[in-house]
Amino acid sequence: MHKGSCLCGNVNYELSDELGDFGYCHCTSCRKASGTAHAANAPISRLHFHLRSGGDTLREYQSSPGKFRAFCSRCGSPIYAYLSGTPNMLRIRLGSLDTPFAKQPKAHTFVSDKAPWEPITDRIPQFDCWAPKDVLLQLGSRQDLS
Ligand SMILES: [Zn+2]
Ligand SMILES: [Zn+2]
Repeated sequence: MHKGSCLCGNVNYELSDELGDFGYCHCTSCRKASGTAHAANAPISRLHFHLRSGGDTLREYQSSPGKFRAFCSRCGSPIYAYLSGTPNMLRIRLGSLDTPFAKQPKAHTFVSDKAPWEPITDRIPQFDCWAPKDVLLQLGSRQDLS
């Protein structure tokens, strides 16, 4: 259904299901982890994530207790993250996708943390912290566990 890869091309994966809903997260960790203004991460069951190559350079970094971020150690591309509390739900970094993905973001989250140099000029609803779950339930995130 989808294919994705890292910047150097060593890590390649396929997804055998559609990705879930996502938003743009402007929190400080997402900004640091992505190197830019916000992150766009969508959930998928680990059962539907198939690593086709790159197991030799795929590494995990525990950025806070129980939060693991998987990335290519050759080129630095973030690929997915997951929580030890929901280990079977991966949150795919949408920038790593190579195939078209039609869903649009449902919310801007953690806008209170956003970089002052980032203007938000669209009409997607904005929230200072998580969006309410009926607006955007982020499966596999700490919002999902709360
Ligand atoms: Zn790479
Ligand atoms: Zn975030």
